Amino acid sequence: MASFLKLRQVLRADILQKISVRNLSRGSVLFEEEDEGNEVSESPEGKSENIHPSKDRRKPMPVETSIRYLASEAYKETYGSAPVWKPYRRNHKGAFPPQKTRKTCIRQGIITTGNACPICRDEYLVLDHRNTSLLNQFISEFNGEIISYKKTGICQKQHKQLLIAVHRAKDYGTITFDVPQRKYNYSDWYKPDASSKSPELSPKTIQEHS
Ligand SMILES: [Zn+2]
Repeated sequence: MASFLKLRQVLRADILQKISVRNLSRGSVLFEEEDEGNEVSESPEGKSENIHPSKDRRKPMPVETSIRYLASEAYKETYGSAPVWKPYRRNHKGAFPPQKTRKTCIRQGIITTGNACPICRDEYLVLDHRNTSLLNQFISEFNGEIISYKKTGICQKQHKQLLIAVHRAKDYGTITFDVPQRKYNYSDWYKPDASSKSPELSPKTIQEHS
């Protein structure tokens, strides 16, 4: 019995030590972060030095550069022939993604997320009505509609920009929104025997409903 108590005491001491160590380490990390934050807010000049150049979006990219980029070899190397949103995967908690994508990836000209959306992450992609090769990637080839942000994963702010750009491009006539006409051979689905029966069925169903 005595040995059991001793063992328990030892274990408890061990656990307490572990907890205290963990708390200390956590506390120190938190304090460091707070200190950094204070330094940044105090000196705006120091802030610009701390920002990684890949996350800086304060200089707006001209559309002409973006159009040239989309036609360049560098673009083909990074994306190939697939649309820009194809290799992007959203990060989210749990098994099911949230209904909407994030509000914005860029706050005050700086990327504030580790997984920026396919438009925000590449500074050379600019949504504009003149940049038709980019806009066409967000338009469905089957029905001519704009592909949902659920599929493309672009943030709400960029999706709004996309809607504006596509609308404007249609107004200017730079995007043609004709969907190729398809001719269906209905005999593939409806055999001649089945088609003769269907008109008999339809009045019955109407009567049932009324
Ligand atoms: Zn974004």
